[in-house]
Amino acid sequence: STPVATTCAIAQAARSGLVVKGGKYLEVLGKVKVIAMDKTGTLTEGSFQVVEMQILHNDLDLMKLLHWIACVENKATHPIAAALVDYAKSHGADPNGEVSDFRNLIGEGVTGIIDGHEIFIGNDRLADRLGWIDDETLESSYLEEWKNQGLTICWVGVDGELKLILCAGDQLREEAAEAVKNLKDLGLHIAMLTGDTLTTATVMGTQLGQIDIHAHLLPEGKVEIIKQLKKIGPTGMVGDGINDAPALAAADVSIAMGVAGTAIAMETADIALMKNDLRKLAYAVKLGQNARWKIF
Ligand code: ADP
Ligand code: MG
Repeated sequence: STPVATTCAIAQAARSGLVVKGGKYLEVLGKVKVIAMDKTGTLTEGSFQVVEMQILHNDLDLMKLLHWIACVENKATHPIAAALVDYAKSHGADPNGEVSDFRNLIGEGVTGIIDGHEIFIGNDRLADRLGWIDDETLESSYLEEWKNQGLTICWVGVDGELKLILCAGDQLREEAAEAVKNLKDLGLHIAMLTGDTLTTATVMGTQLGQIDIHAHLLPEGKVEIIKQLKKIGPTGMVGDGINDAPALAAADVSIAMGVAGTAIAMETADIALMKNDLRKLAYAVKLGQNARWKIF
């Protein structure tokens, strides 16, 4: 049976918007030495806005391309997809059209066929794989500029050919820096895990103080990092379930973002943050630490 102190701690947690699935999870959280956090949707709002675009073809029918982008991204779930759909719509593009062979390319982006054309939209990893990163694109100063502003780059190609590059911005949650500081004050090692590029991740991460940044990761790469972090000590992972479900499962204790997270993350995580207030993490760790003292 669950000790009384733990039951009290769970009730206390619930009052502040933390759903704890069982006493043992709070106890593990009380013992963690490391907190790993997903970037998009966890440390950040997970709500992107397109900031700029660079057209790479003179004979480009921009309206048609924006229409295709909107149709393909309409089928995607990553937070950046909504930004691309909104952007296309704001330019007057019709977001409705039939897309076939839609696929999520894990850690890269998306693809689909529309009007007989194959569309690819994604990050540097995708651009690299499709051979779009050549001397010309590498020399384009705007790419580095965008990354140095913490923006996320989105490459768009049609039938294998690069057509357009956009950049989109997301914001750190307003309480993220304070939440990280509170966790560090408890002596915990804080890591950021992201599929985004290192420059973008570093620019955002630096605003959170000194943290351990791991970027350009595929979902299985996030699992590898969790395994490494566990060598430091018990590790908690906080995520929204979009491409981080395996990392959540690999941690000693998993915490899901409630409002911003996916239903699957909420269901499988050990603890859910119902109000998405990251400051509740340090509070929960302390609750776990105290409950442990009362039991033993
Ligand atoms: P993260 O959420 O940490 O950024 P993900 O693994 O979810 O990591 O995604 C990796 C990267 O792939 C994203 O940062 C984004 O640049 C790109 N990406 C994912 N989905 C899409 C999409 N629908 N459209 C464009 N780019 C995407
Ligand atoms: Mg995420």
